[in-house]
Amino acid sequence: MVHALGAQASVTALARKDTSLRKASFKENKNISFNKLWIPLSSANLKSGSSAAMHHLKVLSMSVSQATQRKTLVQPLELENAKEPPLNLYKPKEPYTATIVSVESLVGPKAPGETCHIVINHGGNVPYWEGQSYGIIPPGENPKKPGLPHNVRLYSIASTRYGDSFDGKTASLCVRRAVYYDPETGKEDASKNGVCSNFLCDSKPGDKIQITGPSGKIMLLPEDDPNATHIMIATGTGVAPFRGYLRRIFMEDVPTYKFGGLAWLFLGVANSDSLLYDDEFSSYLKTFPDNFRYDKALSREQQNKNGGKMYVQDKIEEYSDEIFKLLDGGAHIYFCGLKGMMPGIQDTLKRVAEQRGENWDAKLTQLKKNKQWHVEVY
Ligand code: FAD
Repeated sequence: MVHALGAQASVTALARKDTSLRKASFKENKNISFNKLWIPLSSANLKSGSSAAMHHLKVLSMSVSQATQRKTLVQPLELENAKEPPLNLYKPKEPYTATIVSVESLVGPKAPGETCHIVINHGGNVPYWEGQSYGIIPPGENPKKPGLPHNVRLYSIASTRYGDSFDGKTASLCVRRAVYYDPETGKEDASKNGVCSNFLCDSKPGDKIQITGPSGKIMLLPEDDPNATHIMIATGTGVAPFRGYLRRIFMEDVPTYKFGGLAWLFLGVANSDSLLYDDEFSSYLKTFPDNFRYDKALSREQQNKNGGKMYVQDKIEEYSDEIFKLLDGGAHIYFCGLKGMMPGIQDTLKRVAEQRGENWDAKLTQLKKNKQWHVEVY
């Protein structure tokens, strides 16, 4: 049980399990109660300046506190006071043995390939910050080095430091099964399927798992300015670190981090059945419409303006004016997903810059220098 105390009303919220998993049904938490009513903007006569309008304005301002109340108050971890993120607490030679809590498929039947949400209990022993990765050592022998364990595979952590159960004892991963299809027959060849991703997606609650890390500093969420703009570009499982950011920003009530800026997520996947954590992101749109934007590129379902497949770079192009203005104003931009996403995106950004009479290479150098440009592709 987590107690969430808002400024204007006290709210009791059950610690929610992730609401966006396909297998788990999404239910409004019946235990949340509000003692203020929310009247939609359309019903407020804002032009008149009448006392009725002022009353509506007052009610409108309450929506902000109501939004706060919807968050889950977390008991701040020691990690909140640290100046640096934890790094490599466990190394490949001495990994930490954690336990699988749950494995759930995130995608629908029409998705090409499976992606799973995996919750791991580390008992609070392998703490991390949002945007870091864990290493996983799959069981068995390394085929290239007989007698030795497999090499470590890295996975971006998809939860906040508090984990999906808000107690700082779990970490979640978003893992796509690597399946090998014979190029000649087009049939799956299980002997060549990815070792670690299949081990993770096939694992069961209670199974033991060897983890290393946490690692990575590139994708940490800069929190020095709580009113900053964060533009997140993800393809597929690249959404993992952004799920962590967004839960910290919109789901958790963290006493030391009160977000008042803009978070804008671009997510590229094949089709609607392949969308990851869509319910969770859509719920932020409803609760925090002024602070969150969410654009999806469904390559096999939508067409770009030239009639081709809709990729994230096409969405970037659609909003390029706004994106460039936000970058000029100091916005952070993040890219995460498969390596193959970057060339198309870079080409688009370069083309847009040229159309605007700007030199992309100089702009990119400046963005990197200002630490506004964050890329983690694999
Ligand atoms: P491997 O066993 O390593 O195989 C790799 C590929 O080779 C597979 O596609 C496999 O099918 C193919 N293959 C195997 N044998 C043969 C053969 N004989 N001939 C031809 N092909 C073959 N992945 C995620 O899903 N989610 C994440 O959040 C994520 N985050 C990452 C973050 C970072 C920083 C990095 C570097 C990587 C990340 N990855 C992530 C990728 C992940 O680390 C693994 O590379 C991925 O899961 C594949 O590992 P595997 O053990 O399943 O496949």
